Amino acid sequence: MFIARYFTKSIISPIKKLIEGTEAIAKGEFKGIDVITHDEIGELANAFNDMDAKLQNTMADLISSRNEIEAIFESISDVASAQDMDMKITFANRLAKDMYGDDIIGQFCYNVYEGKSEVCDDCPATSLLETGGVVRTIHSKYDNEGVQSHIETTGSPLKDEQGNISGMVMIRRDVTEQKTLENKLRVSYVNLETAYEELKQLDKMKSELVANISHEIRTPLTSIRGYTELMLDGTLGQTTNQQLKGMKVVLRNVDRLTRMISNVLDLSKFDQQERVVKEVGLKEIIKHAVDDFENEIPYKSIGITVDVSDNLILECDADALEQVFINLLGNAIKFTDKGGSVSIQAYYEDEHHIHIEVIDTGVGIPEDKFELVFDRFYQIDASSTRKYGGTGLGLAITKKIVEWHKGTIWVRNNPNGSSGSVFHIILPRKHN
Ligand code: ADP
Repeated sequence: MFIARYFTKSIISPIKKLIEGTEAIAKGEFKGIDVITHDEIGELANAFNDMDAKLQNTMADLISSRNEIEAIFESISDVASAQDMDMKITFANRLAKDMYGDDIIGQFCYNVYEGKSEVCDDCPATSLLETGGVVRTIHSKYDNEGVQSHIETTGSPLKDEQGNISGMVMIRRDVTEQKTLENKLRVSYVNLETAYEELKQLDKMKSELVANISHEIRTPLTSIRGYTELMLDGTLGQTTNQQLKGMKVVLRNVDRLTRMISNVLDLSKFDQQERVVKEVGLKEIIKHAVDDFENEIPYKSIGITVDVSDNLILECDADALEQVFINLLGNAIKFTDKGGSVSIQAYYEDEHHIHIEVIDTGVGIPEDKFELVFDRFYQIDASSTRKYGGTGLGLAITKKIVEWHKGTIWVRNNPNGSSGSVFHIILPRKHN
């Protein structure tokens, strides 16, 4: 009896506890084996307890990873699901369940998402299995009412510990709106390109027409001018004072018309003309422009100063740029009364740009006309009784030339005088 009791207490009972412990582990309820023997059974129990502690840690890690993955899945704002190698859905986020039903787990993906009874022809999962990597496809489908939609599917493989694909995660996004916009954009682009080509063609025709008409008008004008001059200098016989006065008006208007035609020509042919770009000193260009007015300046007794240093060098079409200063100086002199002043200043705005200012003390430009004066044919005073001549094209040509040089031009009031304007130009030093 004594031996039997000893045997039960020291051997059978610890083994029973061990068996209960292993059964609890299998059920995931294990709380530790309470065996306080110092023999092999005690050691076995301790090993079980260690193993249990490690198992519980591993389980906790696994649960937290799973929770993380679930949270990531739920935060995806597209339909996201995982599926096994048989294409059966094993996991789906809330959006997938809301759209396709809570019972999609365990169903075939092609059945749930595409309403088909077998694997789709363009199945992204099939190409994922072929390539073994991430796949992205866009396919279209029609609903029961025949409305087409476009679905972008991104598939990523799920791999087991040996690195073999054991399933995949599929994220489906409805890109119908994006596709429709893309298509519209493509059509608009093609239309725009066609319209641009037509416009270019029309512009070329317009320029040719303007050039032809201008030429046709210039020829008789030269003749009118020639005969008027002959009448004025008496070569064609005696003329009365009144006739002489009339001839002078004719001559003035012929000159005006000629100027206007050459301005129109300049503007319309600008884009077609060959441009020669080279490094030039700005001072030289401005000096040439000022020379053009050497007769006019003393006549109007206008003081003109040029404050441009020799080291201002820029890459430009010198002829075109000279035209800019001729136009600006012409206006500055024209709109400044006798005794006024005109000045040109230029300096480096920064390392890559030159700033030029053409300043006058003339009649000035109202603020609300600062932009308008650069429009074709715009003149602040366009009345038939206006005091100043001109075509309203000078500043439009000027702006075109400045912009061709990738520069900017604008006008402001003269801050240093009671009246007058300042035309600002910023030009890049390098032309590219
Ligand atoms: P226009 O041949 O008439 O001078 P522009 O295109 O050169 O044509 O100038 C357009 C208009 O801008 C001018 O008619 C004038 O009203 C105004 N303008 C241009 N420059 C000046 C200036 N320096 N001072 C005052 N007004 C000016």
